[in-house]
Amino acid sequence: MLEKYLVRIRCPICGTIIKLCSRQGTQFYICPECYLCFRKDVLSTNPVILWEGDYYTNEQIIKHHMLRNSAFRNIERIIYSSLGRRGKILDVGCGVGTFLEIAKQREWQVEGVEPSPTAAKVAQLRTGAQIYQEDFLTLDYIGHFDAITIFDVLRTIPDPKQFIQKVFDMIKPSGVCVIRETNAWYGRTRREKSSMQKKIQEYMQEWTPISIEKALLKIGFSNVQIYPSPVFIDGNENRIYRLLKPLPYIIFKWVHLVSARVISPNMIAIARK
Ligand SMILES: [Zn+2]
Repeated sequence: MLEKYLVRIRCPICGTIIKLCSRQGTQFYICPECYLCFRKDVLSTNPVILWEGDYYTNEQIIKHHMLRNSAFRNIERIIYSSLGRRGKILDVGCGVGTFLEIAKQREWQVEGVEPSPTAAKVAQLRTGAQIYQEDFLTLDYIGHFDAITIFDVLRTIPDPKQFIQKVFDMIKPSGVCVIRETNAWYGRTRREKSSMQKKIQEYMQEWTPISIEKALLKIGFSNVQIYPSPVFIDGNENRIYRLLKPLPYIIFKWVHLVSARVISPNMIAIARK
């Protein structure tokens, strides 16, 4: 089946019944227990169809993702300083392998999971790594990794609890789970206007620093750290633009700090098993 219509009657993380949740717009509800902002009516599309479809078959999108180097270099540094070592890493939803290529250059042993056949092939050619071209949830493989990364994926997953549980099961003791997500406190409207986002399915849920921490703790992770995410602004080769490129991240780091670690457009959550 390519699409499945689901009505969520409970919070997909902690199970609080929807009647106890407060309404946010026409489709979203906020759970009073874990603060997850989740959509009630969900059209769940087979991830292979979803991410191949209008997305990775578009050459402009492939090009856009292949240029996201500088933010991923910063993210790798954050992971290394949090974990204290480099080892085996799995990128779930690795797309065209931009992060894996950087991780490989920095001596990680890399593997990826990517449902889109087009993106998985590009990732495999760039990294020479094992890329599982499949939906992570149906992947019949349990490796054990020092780190598993999930960049901009969790918002599109109909059952995020099952997804994080599978990630937990595949991480070695003392390894880390790394999640990049947009921050719902920063405002949904701006993102709904994004032309890139319109090409994929609408969000199933949105996260805040509190809801992502609660979800990770509930599954069994500990020591959750939330950082403002490095900004993806690659692609423009203009010299002035290149000089100014580090500025937004520096500004967001300060705004995050002075807002008691609440405000940043995107966040990186790192949790230890
Ligand atoms: Zn909840």
